[in-house]
Amino acid sequence: MNAMKLATKAGRPPTVIEVGKVRIGEGFTIIAGPCSVESEAQTLETALAVAEAGADMLRGGAFKPRTSPYAFQGLGLEGLKILEKARAETGLPIVTEVIDPRDVSWVAEYVDVMQIGARNMQNFSLLREVGKSNRPILLKRGMYSTLDEWLSCAEYILSEGNPDVILCERGIRSFEKYTRNTLDLSAVPSLRELTHLPVIVDPSHATGRLSLIEPMSLATVASGAMGLMVEVHNSPCDALCDGAQSLTPEAFRELVRRLRSLEAFMEKL
Ligand code: PEP
Ligand code: MN
Repeated sequence: MNAMKLATKAGRPPTVIEVGKVRIGEGFTIIAGPCSVESEAQTLETALAVAEAGADMLRGGAFKPRTSPYAFQGLGLEGLKILEKARAETGLPIVTEVIDPRDVSWVAEYVDVMQIGARNMQNFSLLREVGKSNRPILLKRGMYSTLDEWLSCAEYILSEGNPDVILCERGIRSFEKYTRNTLDLSAVPSLRELTHLPVIVDPSHATGRLSLIEPMSLATVASGAMGLMVEVHNSPCDALCDGAQSLTPEAFRELVRRLRSLEAFMEKL
């Protein structure tokens, strides 16, 4: 039996996932927002800024899978309610992470796309649970995972009946310490050979460095990815999480301008 009969291409056309007016897999989708939802003011201010700059969707974590149990863990339900408000104000669909299988069904009521983080890529009970939901799933690559292992995790979700899986490359662990992770951009064209599922890139967690977000974002467009997920904060120096890799709204606006012009150039190639 083919262990990845649903995730592999097998003659299928590329999957396009509809989230409101956004079509992931067609054109280049830009997802932006803070690492975590910290307060209503911080989230709404950032959401309005990224919407105005041209983002297609808003990200923001209400449940944070932190390396330390003492680090900020997210606002939970209160954070989801803030995200709902941000969607109402901006019209942007919401992406947020879910970390516990027991939360999946009720979190799905609040958000448009549920994210499975790198640390949970192989949390099989969580994958089965999101596979039963009717929301698209953004599945990040585990930090030590091969493409095969990653696609196998997508297969868990697909095999439960949920056809809408977006793959997100977010860097893998290597011996290199200058960057937070090593962005494996070759994963993008490789996955386009292997799977019909849309592939996007997160340059924020991949590099951990503000100065590298723009070049790696532009390289993401050139790699043939279907989108980008990038961290933006209204005041990065006050961020409770990942401030050092978060763009200001002004830097994000300039990034979008460059991405869109590269996207238009690529279409003519
Ligand atoms: C995130 O996107 O908020 C996140 C925690 O990323 P990752 O799971 O890739 O580390
Ligand atoms: Mn983060």
